[in-house]
Amino acid sequence: MQRMAKTLKARGDVQDFFEQGELVAVLTTQPLDRLLDYKAPEGGCWRGAYVEVPLGPRKVIGVIWGRGAGDFDINRIRTVSRVLDVAPMRDEMREFLTRVGSYTLTPMNAMLRLATRAPGLGDAPSMRKVYRLGSAIPNKLTDARARVIEVLRDYGGLSFTLTELAEMAGCGTSVVKGLVKLAAISEEDAPRDLPYPPLDPDYGGKDLSPDQTAAAGILRAKVRSNSYGTTLLKGVTGSGKTEVYLEAVAECLRQNRQALVLLPEIALTSEFITRVEARFGMKPAEWHSGVTMTERRRAWKMVGAGGAQLVVGARSALYLPYRDLGLIVVDEEHDTSYKQDDGVLYNARDMAVLRASLNGAQVVLASATPSLESWANADAGKYDKLTLTSRFGESVLPDMQAIDMRNEQVPSGRWISPTLRAAITDRIAKGEQSLVFLNRRGYAPVTICRACGHQIACDHCDARMVEHRFLKRLMCHQCGETKPMPATCPSCNVEGKLNPVGPGVERMAEEVTALFPQARVAVLSSDLFGSARAIKEKIEEIARGEADIIIGTQLVAKGHNFPKLTLVGVIDADLGLQGSDLRAAERTFQLMRQVAGRAGRAATRGLALLQTYQPDHHVIRAILSGDEDQFWQAEAAERRAAGVPPYGRMAGIVLSGPDVAQVFDIGTHLARHAEPLLRIGAQVFGPAPAPIARVRGRHRVRLLVKAEKTAPLQQALLQWTSPIKLPPNVRLSIDIDPQSFY
Ligand code: ADP
Ligand code: ZN
Repeated sequence: MQRMAKTLKARGDVQDFFEQGELVAVLTTQPLDRLLDYKAPEGGCWRGAYVEVPLGPRKVIGVIWGRGAGDFDINRIRTVSRVLDVAPMRDEMREFLTRVGSYTLTPMNAMLRLATRAPGLGDAPSMRKVYRLGSAIPNKLTDARARVIEVLRDYGGLSFTLTELAEMAGCGTSVVKGLVKLAAISEEDAPRDLPYPPLDPDYGGKDLSPDQTAAAGILRAKVRSNSYGTTLLKGVTGSGKTEVYLEAVAECLRQNRQALVLLPEIALTSEFITRVEARFGMKPAEWHSGVTMTERRRAWKMVGAGGAQLVVGARSALYLPYRDLGLIVVDEEHDTSYKQDDGVLYNARDMAVLRASLNGAQVVLASATPSLESWANADAGKYDKLTLTSRFGESVLPDMQAIDMRNEQVPSGRWISPTLRAAITDRIAKGEQSLVFLNRRGYAPVTICRACGHQIACDHCDARMVEHRFLKRLMCHQCGETKPMPATCPSCNVEGKLNPVGPGVERMAEEVTALFPQARVAVLSSDLFGSARAIKEKIEEIARGEADIIIGTQLVAKGHNFPKLTLVGVIDADLGLQGSDLRAAERTFQLMRQVAGRAGRAATRGLALLQTYQPDHHVIRAILSGDEDQFWQAEAAERRAAGVPPYGRMAGIVLSGPDVAQVFDIGTHLARHAEPLLRIGAQVFGPAPAPIARVRGRHRVRLLVKAEKTAPLQQALLQWTSPIKLPPNVRLSIDIDPQSFY
């Protein structure tokens, strides 16, 4: 440990050093609202060091935050158990956690938990077997054996684990073991958490179009500036944004700084990792919930030690302990999944900008359909904006047309209009693919009893149960509860009268199969697959042309390439327009444009047909006209007039508890005692039942706070809510900049 302290000191990583026995203040991951004093252990410790400390009967992870306060009985102060063998927390990380904590009103220990979500950080470093080229080369080799040797030769002196090597050579692990016996491969012990193989920025760059070249050049220069900046990279799907921002990543690697690419959906990572490998010759570090525990620990440690140059991951990758972060790419920046819905409420896109500003790093926000927030920031000159105008290799967006459902003859229980049907028939005849899009999982959203009119609802939530015929269950999309489809109506006990109402993708599959019995039909909906790998395989199958008609939920709207797809039929373009959500128009506009963007990515121009009952709705008209700027201008004007985000600030307060009268009383009390908010000129609305008034048996009541953009909202919210003593079974959660109003 002495040696580690010395090397760290030499690297300039240690500011404050505490000798053995000195008092230090430790931030732990435990839900306590203060720092705890400990004595520095033998060998001393330093500010930012990750440590293990005794707390009651347990040992917990913490970080040395600074000098101890010394206001506690010195004889009862315990000693830090040990300093972990990982890079200390850097000042910019500390600042980042502090700022996110105060912005989102999250206690620091919860912030630290978010930043240490790698199991086994406290474990002593362990060893594992790795394999590299050996001394003897046998003269006769089977094909599989020859491939293994070839892979190792390709990668020079590098070593790999058994599974990595077998996977790269496309053979079983026994082949590798066989070569070890022949001494053609040597087996060695190495530390378990190995650095990631180096990425080569010049490995597989493509020849860029003039448009791409210009954009890439600007981004490269920004990365070289070693300072903060944010760029909105806008271009329709397939315009080559990914190729462009990979050039920025390459430049970041050349600068010896680290890069992070955030993706909105885990299902997209494996396709993306393949692209990274093609571009840089090796795989990057991966960070999301689908990554194994060992890999998570390796990624966490190597990011801190500088042994990972590029991380591809989900929003929580923002909280990794980067040694020198130079670039953050937020792909599909408008995607709502960037807003964390449980635990710490933060928007990863905004936090990426914060993190970059603290690190002197660049941010690239890539999207075909930017969020209004980013659009407004670019408009105001806070962000730079780069637009890729043409699709790579081709120059047009699909033709978009409405199908006016008021003029179509569609039998009851059916949803595909004759017009859409004819278009699909035509595509099948030409050997092209069609996508039938419906953003609704399951078979039918409602099950109704034709005898008494009863609708089957969740027992714990204010929501109807959705029939999932594939799973043979009814499911609540709020709480995930499932139950079998009852044989008789739970209300009137009549048998055989329960009937599905409305379509889900599974029901669309039934209709499509009935209408096109000869066609090969593929359904893409996240709940129909057991794993991300299964989804990936299905997607690859479709991309190879092994389906004529694809039926999909919003899973297909995101970044997949289907070269043969030339027609998109949207079953219900009006779906997202209902509801009270502030962003309903924005979301519908984005989703429809993304889905339409699936059509005609290769040489043929695509067609998108939108089934709608409101062809004159301003959002539908804007989608059809393709005049984005006009849509954003109108939307921005409306929000500015209403004083809502991004032109004003909002906070959603949700009170929940088992007793509806009790939560309402507390809500009313809060509304009546809102002086701290009124002092900053904020308005309070409510209490009112939340749009989903009951979830998991808890009643939900909400208040909305609206304030001017510059008002000190967080401080006022704290002053307002902290005097309230909540009964133990009532929870209060505050969501700054709420994305959804559920
Ligand atoms: P976006 O990110 O805007 O959706 P991509 O970067 O994924 O677009 O590009 C769409 C497709 O075109 C991809 O298959 C990509 O490999 C290909 N592509 C883009 N730019 C080039 C280029 N300069 N040379 C060759 N292929 C390209
Ligand atoms: Zn439920």
